[in-house]
Amino acid sequence: MPLRKLVAGNWKMHGVSSDLAEIAQIASASREYPQVDVALCVPAILIERAVRAVPGFSIGGQDVHHAEKGAHTGCTSARMLVDAGAVLTIVGHSERRDAQRESNAEIQAKAHAALQSGLNVILCIGESLSVRERGDAVETVLSQLEASIPDEPSEAAELAIAYEPIWAIGSGKTPTIDEIAEMHDAIRNRLNQRYGGEGDRVRILYGGSVKPSNAGEIFAVADVDGALVGGASLKAEDFMPIVAAASRAG
Ligand code: PEP
Repeated sequence: MPLRKLVAGNWKMHGVSSDLAEIAQIASASREYPQVDVALCVPAILIERAVRAVPGFSIGGQDVHHAEKGAHTGCTSARMLVDAGAVLTIVGHSERRDAQRESNAEIQAKAHAALQSGLNVILCIGESLSVRERGDAVETVLSQLEASIPDEPSEAAELAIAYEPIWAIGSGKTPTIDEIAEMHDAIRNRLNQRYGGEGDRVRILYGGSVKPSNAGEIFAVADVDGALVGGASLKAEDFMPIVAAASRAG
């Protein structure tokens, strides 16, 4: 049975008070697509205001610290995200793996901490262009998956994996449909090996230059259970056609 599609926007370091109206527009338009789960992951400092502006709509964070509290200047704990009203968080985005040198072990700890606090998690994995070009994409992504996902199969339903080829993020380039299908199939098989039957409950999102013009064909691929969307999530006029495509794909 197909999983409900999840279309999540990653606003990265975009969004101030004057953008709350855009969030409100997206939340209101999303009500027309009750078959799709829609979420926006906004800067931590905007979460509480966004939640107040759009009660009932899913607002998330973009990162979380693995510790409950302590001497971690500038970091945000899972409890703080929950306290601000977030219902989910991204972990392991390639921009953080790269700029903050986050390891798979750290990302696994973050995912575990977030899930334990009741947050849903979108955990990102993906290969660089050089890895794709030398033909090692599937093997590399599966080893990232193995090392980053939490051990507990009971957490599977609240976990989504976002397959995001690094070279596709913000570049306008995407893998071929066959390459997306191959990767999502490999991820699903590995999740089932790790979690037994529970692996089928984990949503596998595609991310990397998803836009209104390519969303339909991407959502038609088996085991593509939604999308993580960066640039095209900032404006309702770009984001809502992607949500509509997810709704049509069922
Ligand atoms: C992302 O950063 O998660 C992303 C998918 O970005 P974009 O859609 O802009 O490629």
